[in-house]
Amino acid sequence: MTAFWTEPDYDDHEVVHVVRDRNSGLLAIIAVHSSHLGPGAGGTRFWHYPEPKDAIRDALRLSRGMSYKNAMAGLPMGGGKAVILADSDKTKTPEMLAAFGDAVESLGGKYVTAQDVGISEEDMVAVSQRTAHVSGLPVTGDDAAGGDPGPFTAMGIYHGIKAAVRHKLGKDSVEGVHVAVQGVGSVGGGVARLLAKDGAKLTLADIHDDQAAAMAQELGGNAVAADAIMNVACDVFSPNALGAILDDAGIARLDCAIVAGGANNQLARAHHGQVLAERGILYAPDYVINAGGIISVAVEYLARRDGSPSDINEVRKRIAQIPERLEQIWQQSDASGTSPDVVADRMAQELIGRG
Ligand code: NAD
Repeated sequence: MTAFWTEPDYDDHEVVHVVRDRNSGLLAIIAVHSSHLGPGAGGTRFWHYPEPKDAIRDALRLSRGMSYKNAMAGLPMGGGKAVILADSDKTKTPEMLAAFGDAVESLGGKYVTAQDVGISEEDMVAVSQRTAHVSGLPVTGDDAAGGDPGPFTAMGIYHGIKAAVRHKLGKDSVEGVHVAVQGVGSVGGGVARLLAKDGAKLTLADIHDDQAAAMAQELGGNAVAADAIMNVACDVFSPNALGAILDDAGIARLDCAIVAGGANNQLARAHHGQVLAERGILYAPDYVINAGGIISVAVEYLARRDGSPSDINEVRKRIAQIPERLEQIWQQSDASGTSPDVVADRMAQELIGRG
């Protein structure tokens, strides 16, 4: 048996809890990579892993990713993640969620949970019956932070695309700039709408062709088949669907000056950031540009924890700082010849005291 803490993905995690509740059938892993900047914050994934070792790998990678994302977003939060190991039918019961809430509570605030794949807002409300260390709960007023993080993520990406266009193309506006958007769901759809208001030229694609076509018609753009979007000659390619699309073959297909989008873990392997740089394509590191959602979720949590009103303007102010962070990364990258993803990782490691 190989001990998981000898694997590279372990990366000096502070704590990794395996939670088993026989009565409800809950089996979960809660991982906190770093609490250097604050409580380890990151969502709970509810997923069926055919291989149990993939569950621990997912928890460790995602939790380290949250350390980096929260640090680069300037949040007083560390990084953590939970995975609930679902059966092949993905059976989810109120008893399981209650037992999971008890497990989060037992950590006394070292880990703060939120929604992730397979977990709904209602599930989080159920978890919140057992623990206060929950964020991403329904919002209670128009000016309150929190709720669906998608629109906030989209807002951050929109600002990030404008910053990339300024840096790479020397333009202060996206009017007439051609953006190819992969995935028009919560995030990609939001990005497309914001860009359309500024007069960007849009090409949209989704595996649901009808959704891409309907949005293209509404916003005055074009729709192409999902498997054609990475070949579109454009200024900006904005991936907002899947991770790991930037592999050797994917990068070779690109005909753009900039890659800037919200999908998590866009680089298939660590060296693909360098491959993009060698092709002269400016890359906006995914966990920096897509931090709008976590900013909203964190502001909501911190306000509730501190008994102060949560303020949507605080969220907007913090999201508006995403371009400054990106510009810092690109300037260091230009000066050092190191690709932006590596510059970002080093900055994040410094911020969490591991530089
Ligand atoms: P979503 O499910 O609302 O939208 C994803 C869209 O991508 C769907 O419309 C889907 O049909 C489409 N899609 C799937 N495979 C595709 C393919 N091969 N080609 C084209 N389109 C495809 O999800 P979302 O919340 O918009 O998230 C999108 C991405 O952003 C994910 O990678 C997610 O992890 C990441 N992300 C989301 C948030 C958030 O706040 N929602 C925050 C950070 C990162």
